[in-house]
Amino acid sequence: MGTLVRIELYTAGADQAKAAFRAAFARIAELDATLSDYRPESELNRVCRTAIGTPVPAGADLFRVLAASRKLAEETDGAFDVTFGPVIRLWRQSRRDQRLPDTAALHQAAARCGYRKLHLDTARQTVMLDEPGMQLDLGGIAKGYAADAALAVLAGLGIHRALVAASGDLAFGDPPPGRHGWKIGLDSPAAVLQLANAAVSTSGDEEQHLDAGGRRYSHIIDPATSMALASPIAVTIVARRGVDADGLATAVSVLGAARGLAFMEARPGVAGRIVTDRVIQSSGWPGARR
Ligand code: ADP
Ligand code: MG
Repeated sequence: MGTLVRIELYTAGADQAKAAFRAAFARIAELDATLSDYRPESELNRVCRTAIGTPVPAGADLFRVLAASRKLAEETDGAFDVTFGPVIRLWRQSRRDQRLPDTAALHQAAARCGYRKLHLDTARQTVMLDEPGMQLDLGGIAKGYAADAALAVLAGLGIHRALVAASGDLAFGDPPPGRHGWKIGLDSPAAVLQLANAAVSTSGDEEQHLDAGGRRYSHIIDPATSMALASPIAVTIVARRGVDADGLATAVSVLGAARGLAFMEARPGVAGRIVTDRVIQSSGWPGARR
């Protein structure tokens, strides 16, 4: 998934800790092999090649992430859409080339995108894609899912005081001994959150962007236009589960401040902070300004 994962945990002793790290990182590696769109042989990419016009079975992890993605696509009217792989790949190439993608190429790629072309059969756990050349991209949701999954492995080993951080996507179990929560520092503006049994995701990756024509283009694209976001926005979401926090942070970035805030307020158990030229916090936001 193109990132580093950090795990912190509290155990009775070093042996238990070592075994726990091994199991949790093995789970992360398994999910990377399943959900990555960079790996040609990932289950995700195999499904993209074989599921055209014919339902193919998906493993539990892939199916769950796709189901959560499809649901978020419906709820956001397509602002979050994992079928935009062809468009996302053009923008990824354009970041490497340091120049804007060709408009005609973007239009052609967009014709192979759209969440209504992704069909999931929950009873049979199958996936079907309507058109050849479709490409699913789980970059906006897989890390949050992986953080949840690693935490679940630890819980299965009886380790509940743990944190899993897949760069900007963090999931927390019970707090460290003697504390009320895990402390998370946010920048720009600085804030400190203290959380347990929750997840936090931030979108608005300063490292991944393209500067062209006096504008800075994000690695998040707006499916409505196939253009990368070009107005600065950083979104932090707090939710119960990492898969929700991650997907929502990407989705709210696309929705923008006004629609994004309304969307967060309508979801129980979700809070967020949106930073554009000003700072907006949803009513459930837990962070005090530092
Ligand atoms: P990060 O990767 O920095 O944690 P995000 O969680 O916001 O940030 O994910 C960004 C990634 O999501 C992009 O690199 C791309 O793979 C994918 N993506 C971009 N735009 C969208 C979108 N509108 N809907 C779903 N996924 C997207
Ligand atoms: Mg995300």
